[in-house]
Amino acid sequence: MKLVTWEQNGTLRAGAVVNGDAVVDVSGAGDVLRIVTEPTARQHAAGIAANPGAKRIPLSSLRLRAPLTPRSLICIGLNYMDHCRETGAAVPTRPVIFAKFANALAHPGDTITWHADASREVDYEAELGVIIGKPCYRVSEAEALQYVGGYTCVNDVSARDVQLTDGGKQWTLGKTLDGFCPIGPALVTADDIPDPQTLAIRCVLNGHPVQDSNTKEMIFSCAALIAHLSRYMTLQPGDLISTGTPFGVGMSRDPKLWMKDGDVVVVEIEKIGALQNQIRVIAD
Ligand code: ZN
Repeated sequence: MKLVTWEQNGTLRAGAVVNGDAVVDVSGAGDVLRIVTEPTARQHAAGIAANPGAKRIPLSSLRLRAPLTPRSLICIGLNYMDHCRETGAAVPTRPVIFAKFANALAHPGDTITWHADASREVDYEAELGVIIGKPCYRVSEAEALQYVGGYTCVNDVSARDVQLTDGGKQWTLGKTLDGFCPIGPALVTADDIPDPQTLAIRCVLNGHPVQDSNTKEMIFSCAALIAHLSRYMTLQPGDLISTGTPFGVGMSRDPKLWMKDGDVVVVEIEKIGALQNQIRVIAD
């Protein structure tokens, strides 16, 4: 099931996408988190969506929001072999973990805004987001995907000057400016993506593809990441793991490519959709 959340008259509604471009309101089964994490709610939502008499709303008419509000934003660095090569970083032998805070969450279509005096080197990172569906502690890689509720697109927006140089490698701060974690536009339940390591992933900036890869290039698979994280922490329903970005980020280009005022950035992942945001930079 492909699930979306939208805002209508000040309240959030949950919907199932049918035929690619229409949405059936399945809020009677709960919100997207509940539909993803509770099997009875999931069946209820599927039943509503399959009803031939259900009202169909054009997807393009909806003001989409993030499909859910993640509980934790857990991020993985340097997880694509082609991205390691372009940055010159050593290939990690264990996953590199960092975090974003709740202030970073942004919605499909949001304008991501920052002040130029906070960062002059803001980059895009197309990433596959894994949403945990069941509590998960010390699980094996073989069983790890059973704990996934679904998948979404993430743009791990990154202020490189803050992250890598200003004041000495403030990695967390550079990753968690307001709005630096848009997610969406949909959450696709795990049963519809049995193998998350086969998905085309792209970033398109102002109509030009700047990243174009496949999740098969991940160094640590989604299952390996869940198994690794769960050795140390209990993953909970609604946790988001953003699984790293492929080749083509702006900091590795010559000349470097930073996002600027008026840009339009899109993260696209096969089977999930296209997450679009606009950029606003407030001058000094
Ligand atoms: Zn990233």
